[in-house]
Amino acid sequence: MKEEQIIQLIQKSLPAKNKDVVVGIGDDTAVIKYDKNNYLLFTTDSIVENVHFKKTQTTFYQIGKKAIAVNLSDIAAMGGIPTYALVSVGLPEGKKEIINGILRGMKKLSDKYKFDIVGGNLTKSPFLFIDVFMAGKVEKKYLKLRNGAKPGDSIYVTGSLGGSQIKKHLNLIPRIEEAKTLVKKIKISAMMDISDGLSSDLIKLAKANKVGFEIYLDKIPVSSDAKKISKTEEEAIFHALNDGEDYELLFTVPEKYSKNIPSKILSIQITQIGRITTQKSYYGISNGKRTKIKDKGFNHFKTPAN
Ligand SMILES: [Mg+2]
Repeated sequence: MKEEQIIQLIQKSLPAKNKDVVVGIGDDTAVIKYDKNNYLLFTTDSIVENVHFKKTQTTFYQIGKKAIAVNLSDIAAMGGIPTYALVSVGLPEGKKEIINGILRGMKKLSDKYKFDIVGGNLTKSPFLFIDVFMAGKVEKKYLKLRNGAKPGDSIYVTGSLGGSQIKKHLNLIPRIEEAKTLVKKIKISAMMDISDGLSSDLIKLAKANKVGFEIYLDKIPVSSDAKKISKTEEEAIFHALNDGEDYELLFTVPEKYSKNIPSKILSIQITQIGRITTQKSYYGISNGKRTKIKDKGFNHFKTPAN
């Protein structure tokens, strides 16, 4: 089964029974009723040796930091802030330098974003993995979902895209602060983070809204690392469109509010890359030529394994 089919099966098998579940499986985080003004956000993500990192190419500090950062990116995608986390670690060996490195990486982000790691689990494992459960909260009026984009809405991304495998995937800065400011300043209709690649995540956003999109390929902000690994401009755009692990924000804004979008938010670039269409097709436009955009982003279960 493909990742999308697996998620659909999980959604169908586990419908929410409790009316406090505002958003269940399928968005960047779950959204749960909390008090008059706030929702709770729950999310979980794991990083696994030889899938997300190689021990020979990274430090344990970076691994600890990344395990937390990918979860923070999902909290940011909802317009929220992190509050508490639980961490499960699978370890092949209990070496002090491994534990210390991972702890330092986690503490760095827990101090920076002022949330607490309040528990977890340790297990022996043939390979290193870290699984994080992260809770957060968001003021009701600032909650952003994947759902909400309408035909005519403009599509925006933060930062620059592509080539993350060079270094950014280990040094990613979750867009918590930027998202917090964005949701206050801008009338955002839908938002998510870009973790699997722009093409893949844009298609997810379009499907969630039963719409299509047109993007201007030449306007996609290409990262300097994507340029470095490309021979031509076209190849660099291909990387920006399809590489995974950008951890930037993807959001849409109704046309009538899209006139006054700043070009930067807290020193991070904001770029309009296209618009939502009524037709459920996905197009890239370059020099007046339209090409179909396919989901070439990262898919955990690409090979049909039944
Ligand atoms: Mg996400």
